Amino acid sequence: MTSKNQHSRRTFVKTLSAGLAAGVAVGGFHTEKKAHAEDKKSDSEKSGNKKSLGVALVGLGSLSTNQIAPALQKTSNCHLAAIVTGTPEKEQQWASKYNVAREHIYSYDTFDKVVGDDSVDIVYVVLPNSMHAEYTLRAAKAGKHVFCEKPMANSVADCQRMIDACKLANRQLGIGYRCQFEPHHQRCIEIARSNDLGAMRLIDAGFGFKIGDPKQWRLNKQLAGGGALMDVGIYALQACRYLAGEEPISITAQETKTDAIKFAQVDESITWTMKFPSGVIAQCSTSYNFNGLNRFKAFSDNGYIQLDPAFGYSDIQGESSQGPIKFEQVDHFQLELDDFASCILENKQSRVSGEEGLKDLKVIEAIYESIRIGKTVTIS
Ligand code: NAD
Repeated sequence: MTSKNQHSRRTFVKTLSAGLAAGVAVGGFHTEKKAHAEDKKSDSEKSGNKKSLGVALVGLGSLSTNQIAPALQKTSNCHLAAIVTGTPEKEQQWASKYNVAREHIYSYDTFDKVVGDDSVDIVYVVLPNSMHAEYTLRAAKAGKHVFCEKPMANSVADCQRMIDACKLANRQLGIGYRCQFEPHHQRCIEIARSNDLGAMRLIDAGFGFKIGDPKQWRLNKQLAGGGALMDVGIYALQACRYLAGEEPISITAQETKTDAIKFAQVDESITWTMKFPSGVIAQCSTSYNFNGLNRFKAFSDNGYIQLDPAFGYSDIQGESSQGPIKFEQVDHFQLELDDFASCILENKQSRVSGEEGLKDLKVIEAIYESIRIGKTVTIS
C-alpha cells in the first residue's frame, strides 16, 4: 500500500469512526437519526447491559454456514447464541461446531419459544426472501431485534409490516446491506458526497452471475419474489442510491429472457435506467445468465470513481480519476453485525434500517411495473 493510500485509509477509518459514533453513515447519505421516545427503556437496559449480544440464526443454508457463522466467531459486540433449522442433522453438527446448547436450538415450529430465551437479543433471518416478513414479525413479537437478509421482503407492503412490527415492539430492524460497511464502498460514498470531482452525472452499475440448479428456490417466484433483480440487481440499485445520495424519481426498464423454461417464473436479465432529482442518470443491469458483471462507475464533471469488482465478499478493487482506491479486504458480515449490535447497545439508528430496505423494494416494484407496462414509471 502506498503512503498516499495509507493516508487515505487512515482518513477513511477516522471518518468512519466519527460517522459511526454519530450514528450516521460516512458522507451523510443516511442522515436520519431516530430518537427513541424518552419514556421508553433504552435497548441497552433491556439487554441487561450486556457487552455482547446473542444472535439466533434462522435458516442454516449456504450464507449462514459459509459467511455468517464464521463472521460471528470474529465479532466483538455479538456472538452466535441460538440456531433455528428445519433439518435435524444440522442441529448436531452446529451444536458441536459452535457449542450451542440444546435449549438454544429451535425448529421453525418451536421458534416462537425464543421469547423466553434471554441469551437471544437479535434474530438474524437468513431464509428464502418470501419468508423474511413472517420471521421478522414472529421475532419482533418475541421481543427480539431483527437483522434480515436482503432483499428485505417481496413487496413494499411486507416491508412496511416488518417496520411496523419492530416499531411496535420497540426493537431495531436492520437489513443485510453488507457493502455499506465495506471500506472501498465507504470511500466512494465519501468522494461522492465531498463533491471533489464536481457534480455527478452518470452511474453505470451492474451485478449478475450464471445461476445453476434449475430447481432452486431462487427460480421460484413464490419463494424468491423475482429473479436476478431481487437477488443481485439490488446491489447495483443500492450503490446508485448511495452514490447519488438521493432517491430515483423515474424508472425505465426492460427484461430479456433467453431461456423461457428455466426462467419461467422469474426475471433472467434486466436493464434499467433511473433518473434522480439532481439530474444524475443511472444505467443498471443484472442477470442470472452470465458471469463477470460486478461493478460500478460513476462519472462526475471532473472525474470518476469506480469499483470493479464491486459487490463480492472479497477482492474489491477501486480507483478514481485521482488514483487507486485501496483498502484491506474485510469481512463484511463481521462489520455489519458488530455495527448492528453496537447500534442496539448504544441506542442508535442502524444505517441499514428497515426504511432503507423498503426504499429499494419501492424501486424494484417500479422496475417490474415498467417492464410490465412497457413504459417509464414515475416514483413519487
Ligand atoms: P440457501 O438456499 O443456501 O439457504 C436457505 C435456507 O432456508 C436453508 O437452510 C433452507 O433449508 C431454509 N429453508 C427453509 N424453508 C425453505 C423453503 N421453503 N425453501 C427453501 N429453503 C428453505 O440460501 P442462502 O444463499 O443462504 O440465502 C438466504 C438469504 O440470504 C436470501 O434472502 C438471500 O437473498 C440472502 N443472501 C444474502 C447474501 C449477501 O451477500 N448478503 C448472499 C447470499 C444470500
